[in-house]
Amino acid sequence: MARFARAPFPAQGRELPRMNPIRKLDPVVVDQIAAGEVVERPASVVKELVENALDAGATRIEVLLREGGARLIEVRDDGGGIPAEQLLLAVASHATSKLRRPSDFEAIASMGFRGEALASIGAVSRLRMISRPPAAPAAAAVTVRFGAVSGPAAAAGPPGTRVVVEDLFAELPARRKFLKRTSTEYAHCSAWVERLALAHPGVGLRLEHDGRRGFEVAPDDGIRERCAAVFGARLAERMVVVEETHGDLHLHAQVGPPEAARRDASRVHLFLNGRWVRDPKLLRAVREGVREFVPVGHYPTLYLALTMPPAQVDVNVHPQKLEVRFRNASFVFSAIVRTLRSGLSRSAWATRRVGAVGEGGAGLAETSLEAGVGASSALEYRPDFPSGPAVWERPAGAPLPASGAVATRATAADGAAADGAFRIGGLLSVANTFLVREVPGGMEILDQHALHERVNLEELRAEVRRGRVVAQPMLVPALVEVTREELADLVVHAQSLAVLGLELAAFGETTVAVRAVPSRLTRLQPERVVADVLELLAEHGEAGAETLQDEVLQRMACRGAVMAGDRLDTSALQDLLRRGAALPQDKTCAHGRPVRVFLTLEDLERAFHRR
Ligand code: ADP
Ligand code: MG
Repeated sequence: MARFARAPFPAQGRELPRMNPIRKLDPVVVDQIAAGEVVERPASVVKELVENALDAGATRIEVLLREGGARLIEVRDDGGGIPAEQLLLAVASHATSKLRRPSDFEAIASMGFRGEALASIGAVSRLRMISRPPAAPAAAAVTVRFGAVSGPAAAAGPPGTRVVVEDLFAELPARRKFLKRTSTEYAHCSAWVERLALAHPGVGLRLEHDGRRGFEVAPDDGIRERCAAVFGARLAERMVVVEETHGDLHLHAQVGPPEAARRDASRVHLFLNGRWVRDPKLLRAVREGVREFVPVGHYPTLYLALTMPPAQVDVNVHPQKLEVRFRNASFVFSAIVRTLRSGLSRSAWATRRVGAVGEGGAGLAETSLEAGVGASSALEYRPDFPSGPAVWERPAGAPLPASGAVATRATAADGAAADGAFRIGGLLSVANTFLVREVPGGMEILDQHALHERVNLEELRAEVRRGRVVAQPMLVPALVEVTREELADLVVHAQSLAVLGLELAAFGETTVAVRAVPSRLTRLQPERVVADVLELLAEHGEAGAETLQDEVLQRMACRGAVMAGDRLDTSALQDLLRRGAALPQDKTCAHGRPVRVFLTLEDLERAFHRR
């Protein structure tokens, strides 16, 4: 850049390029340029042709491929067909039967509308289309060879349409060389057939590659069968169905269990009004919605179909129509988050069943119950005056809740069981981290940090629902140094944070005063919380108050929990288990890691080769 900035101007004796006069591009070149956007590889042709068949009302669609589609792609349908006199128009660019008036553009209900797929494909391949409307006595055909159109001519064929695309990019070596191995191209084609099959129950689809049968679904296969065909029958069986309606927006999801989560979004299928989309905003909403149920950084196996009035969404943002724009994006975002979350919290892997924490089991829970009831916070927070470390005081006789219990000694009744492990109540505590106990039908291992984190989160959320979180004012506000920008950011969000029991105020220009923290999170360190909030603001600042609040809650729930390695005494443990037993969901922590692992007797018998 600097080089240009210093160049003398006007240039003397500089050679200027000779410009040709401006001319309109040759139509074939126009179509080839358009093809660059629409036709990336064989799979894009498969997608466009199958979508055309769907728009034509087909109930059975066959896709035949040779050499990953590079040699041949053939799509046959039993749809409405094209009258002979319109065949030439069908392969012309910007010619479509799907939009009539400019106003149709406001609410697009068909898959296609740009009228350029056939023209684009014909510009970069040898395309032949044979079509016959059911009422027509015979079929007619049109051919396009790398942009050169011929026809229509009489042809033989059943009602419906057949499109044959051969030698894709054969005359465009620059594009051809970007094609990958046959198996890769075939995988891409197959992926599109699967997506379209998930999007259109009621339509049968059949794929064949080099004479071998591929993916196949029958017209009357429902979404469950289709999920089984795409994800495998065993996984599909365990998918949870969630359906909700928010205003004009209907959501239907099938979510796979945590074990089926992936680091990439390859198993996430999002549909908007029957269109498969890959939209960053929607993916973010999905991650948010499943965050507590699948491991951090993972995407679930998911089918999620959104149905909403076409007028509320713009699908014409992307030539391949993969990205979309919503009239009310934040509404859609939070509807997805809420639907996934509420559905998943009722799922088998999130709700309690036999041997839930604190329920039944070996002795401890029953005896602990009454001691802890009502004592949601038996600790009083008393920061040492004026600025020393906070200390905890236990009122005489009150049980020590887990929230405050750190490094207390096991009582004399708790016998040492092994090196490191010790017995406490009916449980064996291993490495001050895992709690092991017998439950009906087998045994259970709890992670004390994960359980405490989940307990904190659920209790905080319940308080938020009731109005606001009970805050514990600090006798002396904790002062935390921040930058001017950070301070401004915190002040802007101070009100939404106050709802969470986190009261912050500016204190000078580069200091924030933490005036109160949620009273049940007695272990929270103010500096840590401020740092967390700033980090979340930097990441998700524009995502909206609701999202931010929930993320802050999750962070606080984690920071306020006992750690792995913290030694808990009997009453702390009892308190934790009692609170765990009251949870709507206690199977995963706020980060989606398991809280409890249940080993059935069969699991144990198998481990010992008794089965
Ligand atoms: P678009 O789908 O955006 O309209 P296309 O180039 O894909 O553009 O198709 C152009 C037109 O050809 C369509 O609008 C439709 O009228 C007709 N057409 C294409 N494929 C089929 C088919 N399989 N059955 C019936 N009509 C079709
Ligand atoms: Mg089309």
